[in-house]
Amino acid sequence: MTLTLRYPTTLATLEIDETYSIYLSRKPKMPKAPVLSPDWMILGHTHKDKWVRHLEPDYKEAVRKLHILQGKSNIRDVCLFSRRKTFKKPTWIDALAPFEEWCGRCRRPTLFQTYPLTTHHALPGATILVPDQKRCFFCGIRQTYFSDRARTANSS
Ligand SMILES: [Zn+2]
Repeated sequence: MTLTLRYPTTLATLEIDETYSIYLSRKPKMPKAPVLSPDWMILGHTHKDKWVRHLEPDYKEAVRKLHILQGKSNIRDVCLFSRRKTFKKPTWIDALAPFEEWCGRCRRPTLFQTYPLTTHHALPGATILVPDQKRCFFCGIRQTYFSDRARTANSS
């Protein structure tokens, strides 16, 4: 079964835009709470539809490793996301491609697709309790996470 009919815009293409490239290179503000495991996950999607993962505690090092992975010939695209925090869509982001939406966890345009499976490549060891949710192609966050959070924020 193939879940993906098309792919999100590659990070290499996004980085052609200088504003996006600078955005990615700068460490976002993170909560000061102590961390028990690395904040950053680097994902690589291969041309054979396999995924490679790497955890990294330091943002600059994560970006460096992201670009090393991006340069490998077997890698189709890469993504770097926070395992601890989601971020607002930057105001300078204009219209996205019609099939893409902004992921506040990956900080990039992505596809939200229905995953009928009980596992996701970005959530190793975790069992997805509610299957058939639309999830980010890269990080696996539920599409409704952001709308649920906005609703919660507005009601308080
Ligand atoms: Zn995502």
